[in-house]
Amino acid sequence: MHIYTAPVVVPIAGDPVRDGAVGVDGDRIAYVGPAADAPESEDATAFAGVLTPGLVNAHTHLCYTGFADMHGNEKEFFEWIQEFARRNPATADDEWKAAAQDGVDQSLAAGVTAVADVVTPAAAFEPLLASDLAGVAYWEACFIDDEAWEERRKAWREIVTETRAVNGSDLAVGVSPHTLYSLGTGVAKSLAELARTLDIRLHPHLAETTHEDMFVRRGSGPFAFMNRRIGLDLELAAGGAGHSPAQQMAKVGWLGADSHVAHGVHLDAEDRALLREQGTAVALCARSNARLEAGEAPVAAHRAEGNPVAVGTDSRASAPDLDVAAEWPVLRKLALAQGDDGDGLNEWLVRAATEGGAKALGRSDIGAIKVGARADLAVFDVDTEANPYAALVSEAAGNCKATVVKGRLIEH
Ligand SMILES: [Zn+2]
Repeated sequence: MHIYTAPVVVPIAGDPVRDGAVGVDGDRIAYVGPAADAPESEDATAFAGVLTPGLVNAHTHLCYTGFADMHGNEKEFFEWIQEFARRNPATADDEWKAAAQDGVDQSLAAGVTAVADVVTPAAAFEPLLASDLAGVAYWEACFIDDEAWEERRKAWREIVTETRAVNGSDLAVGVSPHTLYSLGTGVAKSLAELARTLDIRLHPHLAETTHEDMFVRRGSGPFAFMNRRIGLDLELAAGGAGHSPAQQMAKVGWLGADSHVAHGVHLDAEDRALLREQGTAVALCARSNARLEAGEAPVAAHRAEGNPVAVGTDSRASAPDLDVAAEWPVLRKLALAQGDDGDGLNEWLVRAATEGGAKALGRSDIGAIKVGARADLAVFDVDTEANPYAALVSEAAGNCKATVVKGRLIEH
């Protein structure tokens, strides 16, 4: 057994342990507790800093790691999203693979050991499924109306089934129906059915912008214009659904305990209650929302109401990096500005990016340091004398010093 010690261990599965130790046997955790009580071993590494479970990035698109210039180009949402339509066909498989590999490496360097990754080109599956990351790689469906689906359905399904058949990794294959404004209602229902038939997870984008809300409720707004321009013929464009995007998602079968949604910025109390009832977690992506001027997610309300939440960075096309810890101070600021009293907020945020992410991905063996869990750890160079949750939230961004992924140590 390899023993890792640190001045503070934050297991999530229990209270922080001062002068703690974690024992790793192969790719599993075999001990967590005080260093003084750890099994005797010649094989030991002493870390300075705070040791946590590997973080979970509950919403990202690692294949877009090569599009990092889009984060800084200041294009507004509609120009930004249409840029993918221009760039994607011009990107070769080797470039997609290199970008996804770069995304895997940047994640590990930030202490992220599990991801909810949306895969747009099939080529991006390869580096992901060859990596040691845990989580789910979601095959994306985007910009398909009901008519086009007739033709594309078979090939789309084959990618999922064939990728699953060759997959020997710790990442499951899932389905990402992009949004309600980029897929026909028939496509939406068909994707939900497919996920349930294959028993795989779903991960759509929900309520990212007010324009999405406008399109779903009334069939109007910039998304209606955009779809007309690109020739996407959606049922919702004819007058809308007359209710919120969250309600529409429930209607087409995209919610449930086997699904989690990205963003959830424009959710009212009723929408949040619906997600809670359905057991659907929201992956909060505050920095991406800020870059795209999408609005501010109701972080304080999520916490006050006990909604299941996780933390995502979104892609490098809208986030400055893939550092989940860098989302913490931004989410904290939002919560406080929204009236959160701050009591227990730091711990809630750290839990969201660990066990919250694990739950969003349907995994009970990641996001916490406990015997039998996957040996995924992160070490952050933060104040070891302070409250560890407060130290992590305020200082962990950019300060990951080592990552253990599936039992393998990577020092940065
Ligand atoms: Zn996204």
